[in-house]
Amino acid sequence: MSFRRILPTLLFGGLLAGWIIALVLVFGAVKRDTDQQFERSEASQQLLAAMLDQEIGVRGFLSTFEDPYLEPYTDARHRFDALIQQELELADSDEARDALRRLDVAQDKWEALAADDVRSLTIDDRRFDAELRTREGPIDAFRAEHARYQELLDQQSDKRADQLLTRALVMIVMISLLLGGIALLLLRRGATKERRYNADQAEFAAAMQAAGDEAEADALLKRHLERQLEGSEVTVLRRSAGNERLESGTAIAAGSPLQAGLRDARPRDCLAIRRGAPHVQREHEPLVACEVCGRAGPSACRPLVVGDGIIGAVNVQDDSGRAARGERVVTDSLAQAAPILSGLRTLALAQSRATTDALTGLPNRWAFQDALKRMLAQAGRSRRPLALVVLDIDHFKQLNDTHGHDAGDRALVAVGEALRGGLRDSDLAARSGGEEFAVLLPDTPIEGAMRVAEELRRAIAAIELDLDETRLTASFGVAVLGIHALEAHTLMQAADRALYAAKRAGRDRVEVAEAATPGPPHPLGEPDLSAT
Ligand code: GH3
Ligand code: MG
Ligand code: MG
Repeated sequence: MSFRRILPTLLFGGLLAGWIIALVLVFGAVKRDTDQQFERSEASQQLLAAMLDQEIGVRGFLSTFEDPYLEPYTDARHRFDALIQQELELADSDEARDALRRLDVAQDKWEALAADDVRSLTIDDRRFDAELRTREGPIDAFRAEHARYQELLDQQSDKRADQLLTRALVMIVMISLLLGGIALLLLRRGATKERRYNADQAEFAAAMQAAGDEAEADALLKRHLERQLEGSEVTVLRRSAGNERLESGTAIAAGSPLQAGLRDARPRDCLAIRRGAPHVQREHEPLVACEVCGRAGPSACRPLVVGDGIIGAVNVQDDSGRAARGERVVTDSLAQAAPILSGLRTLALAQSRATTDALTGLPNRWAFQDALKRMLAQAGRSRRPLALVVLDIDHFKQLNDTHGHDAGDRALVAVGEALRGGLRDSDLAARSGGEEFAVLLPDTPIEGAMRVAEELRRAIAAIELDLDETRLTASFGVAVLGIHALEAHTLMQAADRALYAAKRAGRDRVEVAEAATPGPPHPLGEPDLSAT
């Protein structure tokens, strides 16, 4: 699950937890405060009781003259002092301390009168009632002070309750603001990332749409993914045009394990292609190792799926593991790229079918004519010779008639292979029609062209057809630009005339065209014929 998806849950959980903590803290504080308040109130009542107990003790003594009756007074007196001391220490405001001191003063006043009474008792016991009345005043004064103290305690308790409530509200608001702020920040960061991602994907899609061929599109896909998955190495794998091999559409470092894995690889050797599902290769030994990327270390390979077909796969080697986790950029980019790559493949196949002879795989007549024009222009510019060799299989009709059309086809394929095998990369052999072929030899003077034609003649004569005694031979005509003709059309005619000369002379031979009758100069200048 992605962080973005669980973010709202996380924040809501945080908010709830924050509120609960705030409430627990506040309730704790309220509880502590109530307990304290209760204790203060209790102590206050005990102070009053201690005061009254002192009075009762003194009264008992005054009415009995017996010392044991003074004990309640002495006890109460100690209790009172201890309580006043304790409450003074615990009091949390000057007001409370002042009120306690006033209680102490009221007690002092009462005590002074009580001491007088006790002293005067021995002199005149009838003063008892009168003295009792004189102590009522201080007792009432004490009661009044005590009532004020109690009221003060109540007020302070209310004030603290208000404070606690305010504090709880402030805590809740602050927690909400804090988490809200974090949420906003994360969402904004997420939105910025999302915008950048969408812009990158849009740029990639536009670039892919504009790609002119498969190689360009493969390279774009590689570059886009490597840019998004930092430190990764991406290889686009695709089926060969004939579907029989798996090849790399992008550059691979020489000597890399993937390069070795791709040697003679068939599409089904790639597990991602075979299963039509991603194949992730981790550090440890997998249950089934991929024959293509198995030795390349940790990597993730995803098929390029179009409709219900698989046109290839993309291998991503990255240490971050993002590709293995199925990061969005990989799946999105592949989904965008697959139909475009498939379209480019179809286009390439159509183009190649339009220019390639299906039987021999050689360029066809149209491709040959294009190449002839191009090479003629080049030869004119560079003033280098260009040789044309045309050849026609001898008695081919007879071969067809005797051994069947299939045997004829096989012979044509064999001739195509012989031509391909006997030429340089810069030369071009084409099937110009029926059982006729044409070879263009750039930068080749007459002697060189004769030699090549002779080698090709021998190569064709050496073809083993396994058709009884039937031998395959061909007749050749050679013409060179600047010597035998000055333009495409006449060069072809010159070579054809030489070919027919070879037929007339008995076939299975090479003839050179007759020198051109002097005419207008070559439009692109006379080629330099001295080169070999
Ligand atoms: P020559 O030595 O004078 O060139 O005799 P030829 O029999 O080779 O020449 P001709 O033009 O009489 O016959 C050419 C034959 O080539 C006729 C045609 O049926 C055959 N042919 C043309 N294209 C194909 C092809 O694609 N496959 C096969 N099997 N035969 C073909
Ligand atoms: Mg022929
Ligand atoms: Mg022919």
